[in-house]
Amino acid sequence: MIKQIRTWQIAAKKAGSALGHMVLLEWRVPHLYDAAVGVKDRILGRSIRVEACSMCQLRCQKCSTAKGINRDGVVGWGSLPFESYRRLLDENPEIRLVELSNWGEIFLNPEIVDIIRYSHRKGVRLKAGNGVNLNLLTEQMAEALVRYGFHHLSVSLDGASQQTYHEYRRRGSFEKVIRNIGRINKYKRRLGSALPKLSWQFVIFGHNEHEILLARHMAEELGMTFRPKLNHSPHYSPVRDVERVRRESGLAVASRDEFVARTHRPYSFACTQMWDSPQINWDGKLLGCCVNKFGDFGNVFEEGLVPALKGWKYTYAKGMLTGTRPPDPEIPCFHCKVFQKIQRLRSERRGG
Ligand code: SF4
Ligand code: SF4
Repeated sequence: MIKQIRTWQIAAKKAGSALGHMVLLEWRVPHLYDAAVGVKDRILGRSIRVEACSMCQLRCQKCSTAKGINRDGVVGWGSLPFESYRRLLDENPEIRLVELSNWGEIFLNPEIVDIIRYSHRKGVRLKAGNGVNLNLLTEQMAEALVRYGFHHLSVSLDGASQQTYHEYRRRGSFEKVIRNIGRINKYKRRLGSALPKLSWQFVIFGHNEHEILLARHMAEELGMTFRPKLNHSPHYSPVRDVERVRRESGLAVASRDEFVARTHRPYSFACTQMWDSPQINWDGKLLGCCVNKFGDFGNVFEEGLVPALKGWKYTYAKGMLTGTRPPDPEIPCFHCKVFQKIQRLRSERRGG
């Protein structure tokens, strides 16, 4: 039954993303999407994304945080101050869901327990669906996750042994992560709670494809949902046994290109976040989506959330994405590969 519910949730999420892609980029009726998000916000409350910490202690092979690209750029290197977060929730009581993870590791924020506790007090659901490496988790943090009903943690574990895990997750310890999952499970048992829901995110590479089944089995034993994911960088450790990956992952495809060719939809599409779950950086910069590291659209901690979302630059970016405004290099999206791809597709459709 749980497996079935999970399958429906994934299907609903994919359908939502595909619908957003179609309404915004193909039908080009942003007002329809705005209206749908408005109804959703009124019924379920507003969703936002706030980076709890952009710093990370690991050095994963293809990560821009590990390479230092983010540290020197718009995202920077720091953690969300509790006071700014508290004010954001107080000033915007319609916020009901916050995604805390993006470029860094949320548990490196020294005030993460305060953030979790205060969110619970305000009735705000928290999740870390983008991922946590979970190499660091104190007893106090583990207890807070359970006691204050943190909703979902996606744990990045690309392997079922230290040797395989460490191949990509440099400086990471497989043993520590498993121990920290056990720590959360201990409090779940002690406090009789099903939260946080835990998922094991396994990015499939050539060097770990032989451990998919073992990882799936370990995830089940730890009470986690197993979530295989296709590699973002096709030239880094590409899949070797395509048939095996298609079969054992349960995804029926072995690469993102194959996914797109089979389904005619993007594997992931972050642009809809500009409408339904805007990304805010740890220092308050409005980034719009979790991909944007090219520039900001103002500062939510200085201007307030709603005025920042109504700012000309943000509104213009939405127009650019839906093709109702011409491309402008002043707008961060102009420098994003996703936008360049959208432009290419539009031009091909016009026969240009
Ligand atoms: S754990 Fe995540 S943020 Fe940290 S280096 Fe690895 S991929 Fe980057
Ligand atoms: S074009 Fe890029 S930066 Fe702009 S919303 Fe889409 S994914 Fe984000």
